[in-house]
Amino acid sequence: MPSPLEPILEALVAYWTSPLTLSIVAVCATSMATLLYVFLTNARNAKLRVSLLTGFYVLTVFFWLFLATSLFFCIAQARMVAYQTAGIRTAAASAVLVALVSASVLSYLVWRFAAHRVLHRLTPRPLRQEELWLQDYVRLLAQFEGVHPVPVLVVERDEPLAMAVGGKRAAILISGGMLRLLDREETETTLAHELMHLKHHDAEFKVFSTVFSRILFFDPFSKFFDPAVHREREYLADEMSGRSTSKPAALASALLKIADRGPPPRLLGGLSIYGVGHSVFSRYPPLKERVERLLLLSDLLRAP
Ligand SMILES: [Zn+2]
Repeated sequence: MPSPLEPILEALVAYWTSPLTLSIVAVCATSMATLLYVFLTNARNAKLRVSLLTGFYVLTVFFWLFLATSLFFCIAQARMVAYQTAGIRTAAASAVLVALVSASVLSYLVWRFAAHRVLHRLTPRPLRQEELWLQDYVRLLAQFEGVHPVPVLVVERDEPLAMAVGGKRAAILISGGMLRLLDREETETTLAHELMHLKHHDAEFKVFSTVFSRILFFDPFSKFFDPAVHREREYLADEMSGRSTSKPAALASALLKIADRGPPPRLLGGLSIYGVGHSVFSRYPPLKERVERLLLLSDLLRAP
């Protein structure tokens, strides 16, 4: 009597040695290698590096989803994959489709619900009369940068916090502690930094990648590339803030003041403008590097 495992083994061998499956894996691997090569050879182009790393990250997610769905089909539909003429083609096409649809569904859920947890946890309040200039400033900057207008809300906490919340209820949050700590120019550049995160959809990406990093806990790439994407996005938000406000030195000064108050509370680590960055696993770049880049940009903008 044939073993029930036999069709599964035959399906696995037929599937993973078929030219179609191997071509999909080869296209994935070649695209990832190309993105990685261009990333490593473009040291200072922050925008390009963010796009490349994001592309690499998305490909990794697609690859694992494709692998998982393929295995599922090889086990659940073993006879079809092993013995039917179009079995492998059907399984591979379904695996690609399922991988794309699950990534899209997850992206939609992130967009729809990303803000809820943070807003619920921090319960920010609307601006008071004397704080309305924050909203006016963000409105003008958003208009210039082509970003949808977003409300600025205040979190009643003493720690210096500033963060962008994305998705359907996008907003910029700033803490009372931050408003007391920074002068006007520093506050403007901080708000600009957060607006740039919204412009580049960093807030949504942060939630998306956090969810996937937990699902792909076994993937060695996501351990390195997930924090790397976040570090590059911080550099880019710093640079774009410096360029759009023409005051990168004010942002450098803000970062130094914030860092002087110590790391943000653990609960909010990873969300606010400043966090400790000391290794390849940190989601924040080193403070020294951020400040040096901003001061360099300041010199560049003031060069005769
Ligand atoms: Zn940031």
